[in-house]
Amino acid sequence: MKRLVQHLHTYLQGRCTPDEVFQVETIGRLLDADYSGAMRYGEIMRHGDFGLGTFTGLDGEMAAVDGLYYRFGPDGSGDAVDPESQAPFAVVKHFQTDITIRLDGPCDLEAVQAAIDAELPEQDALCAVKISARFDDLQFRVMRRQTDGTDLDTASKSQAEFHEQGLEGVLVGFRFPADSAPVGVPGYHLHLIIDNGRLGGHCHGAVLSDITIEIDDTDHLHLAAEDGMTRLTAGMSADDRERLDRVERERRT
Ligand SMILES: [Zn+2]
Repeated sequence: MKRLVQHLHTYLQGRCTPDEVFQVETIGRLLDADYSGAMRYGEIMRHGDFGLGTFTGLDGEMAAVDGLYYRFGPDGSGDAVDPESQAPFAVVKHFQTDITIRLDGPCDLEAVQAAIDAELPEQDALCAVKISARFDDLQFRVMRRQTDGTDLDTASKSQAEFHEQGLEGVLVGFRFPADSAPVGVPGYHLHLIIDNGRLGGHCHGAVLSDITIEIDDTDHLHLAAEDGMTRLTAGMSADDRERLDRVERERRT
């Protein structure tokens, strides 16, 4: 009933809120070192109130929650995203909680992800996840601006890295099926927002306590990519898979 009322409310406001993940471009495009803007954030914001992404030239990290879009720079601090700025890659959704899990912790990110996996209807589920917690330990990064043609692996070696303890905040992101590359990032991809954007970035690792996990599962991916079909059918080389794993999951210094 609550959902029906919500739906009616948004319908009356003339806004369409489909239950789909909306993705701008592909991770394969970033692996090809094309960091040019593909869509204005002003347009992307119409497709979701929640999500993650990056900016033209990989100039910072984007994280959004409750309709607030933040850009985190290399000092880790956040500002409101300029609607005129563009994304070479972004994933957003109108977040609606389907499942809630509470964990006392402390547990690491892998244990949190395993708890989410156990609740999902199928192994290959696509979902958005919002994880509110106290972070006993936290590791995250922010990419620095790159020129087109700089390999993603090389680009990530100059990223700003942060190691913090005792903060409260929220992780926002997505879980894509294992065979999603080179379209999406396989497995979990999570960005961090601390204190309404005071600090944030791409999360590498964490130890969490007092954890509330909200899961929004869906079957629908809306891919806005110029060469999406080519990527879908091309598959991914073992070498690219390895590079992606290094860039997404590891500290580099
Ligand atoms: Zn990221």
